Amino acid sequence: MILMKEKVIIIGAGIGGLATALRLLNAGYEVVIYEKEDKVGGRVNRIQEKGYTFDLTATISMMPQEFYLLFEELGLRLEDYIEISYPKSLYYTFFKDGTYYDFSTDLIKLNRQLESISTKDAVGYFQLMSDIYEKYQLANQAFLSQSCDQASSFFTFKHLKEIFKLEPLSNVYDYVSKFIKDEKLKEYICFQTMYIGMSPYDCSIIYTLLPGVSQFYGLPHLKGGMYRLVEVMEQLIKEWGGIIHTNSLVESLVIEDKCVLGIQLSDRIDKGDYIIANAQVPYVMHELQSIIRPKEYHLSCSAFILYLGLKQRLPMLNIHNIYINQAFKENIQSAFDGKLPKESSFYFYVPSRMDEGMAPTNGEVINVIIRVPNLKAQNVEWNEQTILLLKEQIYKALAQVTKIEHFKELVEVEKYLTPVDLATHFNCYEGIAFGLSHDLTQTNYFRPHHQSDDLKGLYFVGDCTHPGTGISLVLKSARQLSKQICKHI
Ligand SMILES: Cc1cc2nc3c(=O)[nH]c(=O)nc-3n(C[C@H](O)[C@H](O)[C@H](O)COP(=O)(O)OP(=O)(O)OC[C@H]3O[C@@H](n4cnc5c(N)ncnc54)[C@H](O)[C@@H]3O)c2cc1C
Repeated sequence: MILMKEKVIIIGAGIGGLATALRLLNAGYEVVIYEKEDKVGGRVNRIQEKGYTFDLTATISMMPQEFYLLFEELGLRLEDYIEISYPKSLYYTFFKDGTYYDFSTDLIKLNRQLESISTKDAVGYFQLMSDIYEKYQLANQAFLSQSCDQASSFFTFKHLKEIFKLEPLSNVYDYVSKFIKDEKLKEYICFQTMYIGMSPYDCSIIYTLLPGVSQFYGLPHLKGGMYRLVEVMEQLIKEWGGIIHTNSLVESLVIEDKCVLGIQLSDRIDKGDYIIANAQVPYVMHELQSIIRPKEYHLSCSAFILYLGLKQRLPMLNIHNIYINQAFKENIQSAFDGKLPKESSFYFYVPSRMDEGMAPTNGEVINVIIRVPNLKAQNVEWNEQTILLLKEQIYKALAQVTKIEHFKELVEVEKYLTPVDLATHFNCYEGIAFGLSHDLTQTNYFRPHHQSDDLKGLYFVGDCTHPGTGISLVLKSARQLSKQICKHI
């Protein structure tokens, strides 16, 4: 007797959709992906122009062990597909007053930098890292790596005790201040919570895990940029018989008696046993169905990115850099208060510092990423004036950092991305860059579940589900969902 393979339809070929497809193909399912854009990858994408290669959004491979785990569990070795190297420095951090800190991955150099701030702060930094490490191990085992769909497995005495140990109610800034006195060192640590689109003054100390895991596991660079991961995943899906339809917008879900049976495209219906939405949860619930009243969620902020192709090498920069402006709190809070920053603090990425192939000879590529309000902010219009304002802030800061007065004259390629682009291209709901906000009411059991609570046959994967935003967490989401589906057999 020939057993029919169960058919999985995936809406969207972001990291979440691709990783789920690979895992389910490997487990013997038939997989068909529909992606609205002409290329796969979703927000993890690429722009190429005049010999410059830009990663579209994600640039930091945080918790790289998740990248390795995906390949390992597929019976492969990541290193056989992608050349990976580790930068010697995590970040060069530049401050408005001209101060500069180098956060090396070499313990001796790192210690030298910290001691130059003060011995007390060096002690505080290592104590903080030790505390974070313990919390990370606990959080990773108890929550991040476990599915939180079931109330019965989440609300156990053991779990509640573990949550208590994580002290989730204090905010990042207050927590860091217990260990560190130097305001600049605090700002460097706090800035990194912005990676998940949260303010360090409001978000739970759980997110100090971000600077911690960077220090413990490093920030490896994938040769060719982050999109290399997407290319390999796409190639494997095709080799393993998965089908990817690009330029294929899913217009709605096909639903009967609150049960999702398939998807509606412009010219046909496709039906499957499992319908998985990699498109963001609030977008799906608002735009692809009209049976269930969508919940209102707290949203993360958005991002403005300036991409620069420069005709000069900039040896004073690292692959990962942070620029901290004055009035740090006021300016980074603005993204959450519906305002543009007056003087931005930002992260900037120069991959050509360690991957020369990403720029023409003697050139450099830079992505500058500023956190800005999402599209719910009524008083920010993404017009030429707004873009000019942000560009001027960036050029001024880069001229200061590089000590090149006429920095703008080096620019050969200039492109940008706004929250409107995130919404238009990837259906990011209200232009959010980092999924649903990670406040405590929307984490773990309280984040949307992988299996829809409202519609049978519908599943979610990606940054609006547990455990949250970022490539590594989305890979975890794909792992948890795939396990759940495989259990159904
Ligand atoms: C500016 C910025 C910087 C970031 N930096 C980092 C970083 O340094 N490191 C890191 O780890 N993470 C980073 N992230 C986060 C990371 O990019 C995301 O968490 C991750 O890419 C989300 O993947 P996903 O699969 O959940 O969603 P997406 O990538 O959004 O994938 C969803 C896919 O669904 C498609 N889709 C939507 N609607 C439909 C439809 N109706 N029909 C068909 N297809 C549809 C979309 O086109 C898209 O391809 C960053 C994000 C942003 C925006």
